[in-house]
Amino acid sequence: MRPPVVITVSDPAHTDGVMRALAQHGVAATGLAPTKVFAPDGLPDGDDGILDGTAGVVGVAPSPPWPLASTLLGPPKPVPVGGAAVGGKELFVIAGPCAVESAEQLSLVGDAVRRVGAHALRGGAFKPRTSPYSFQGLGRDGLALLRAYKARTGHLVVTEVMDPADVDAVADVADVLQVGARNMQNAPLLHALGRSRRPVLLKRGFGASANELLHSAEYILAGGNMNVILCERGIRTHETSTRFTLDVGAIAWLKQRSRLPVIVDPSHAAGHSALVAPLAMAGIAAGADGVIIEVHDDPAHAKSDGDQALTEDAFAALMTALRPLAHAVHRSLPERPQTP
Ligand code: PEP
Ligand code: MN
Repeated sequence: MRPPVVITVSDPAHTDGVMRALAQHGVAATGLAPTKVFAPDGLPDGDDGILDGTAGVVGVAPSPPWPLASTLLGPPKPVPVGGAAVGGKELFVIAGPCAVESAEQLSLVGDAVRRVGAHALRGGAFKPRTSPYSFQGLGRDGLALLRAYKARTGHLVVTEVMDPADVDAVADVADVLQVGARNMQNAPLLHALGRSRRPVLLKRGFGASANELLHSAEYILAGGNMNVILCERGIRTHETSTRFTLDVGAIAWLKQRSRLPVIVDPSHAAGHSALVAPLAMAGIAAGADGVIIEVHDDPAHAKSDGDQALTEDAFAALMTALRPLAHAVHRSLPERPQTP
């Protein structure tokens, strides 16, 4: 296999000529940006001589297999969400229940997390459960509850989409579309999200490498949606003391190789509420641009993931504890509630 390359031209008008020259030599190529052409299978024998005499070629450079997700096209790029951004100096905070259960629950949890500065409420209406006999979420009724919460509070909302056919309906309510770990390599879903303009929170599959996560992100970016946020949520290892193993190394690796923001999900990695705060801290120390944390008004009676849910008070304490750490890594946390 030859390494992928990116060819830069001096003017967008030259890309067609480059594509033609490559096609004549049987080289697959695709336009990446106005002045960039990507050859995923590289050039024959690594020889850029085949482009000799082709107008406008400025350079040929090796590329990772996920050029749009990489740093090749520019420095890290914050993703705008509502009036805020993920990947700027301020850490982005998402908190809320694993699943949407009732209007009252969204009110209680939403009001509590908003009060201490969470930018967005999380809550799944569609739940990708391991067992078909577990609570599967309220579906469209759950979306309606999220819509009502958002209308009442103006708070941003993050919720999962599992089915490509639901993307438009979920995007109509959600400020960020979550792709769950179990769907990271669902190609039809990734294609559909590429056609959406809503920011996507792409969670790493627990059996997937960080490199594969970037390939999945590339599907969405190549489809035209440039607003992708990555999420490390723990991977499966031989370790059983935690539900999954939080891969803080991957957070640092992704931050160095990709221009996409990365957030950490300590809740699903921990599996136990007592471990959520230290793992959140580890993620931020490793360079994460924010956190997504499960919070419930009554964890003991949660319909899903109760063991790892923080109470509202524990979440408020975590926000307080994160503040000096954020400072130490030259980041900040919101000082005040996001909305009244
Ligand atoms: C969730 O966020 O509730 C969830 C199902 O997470 P994951 O896809 O990471 O398991
Ligand atoms: Mn969950």
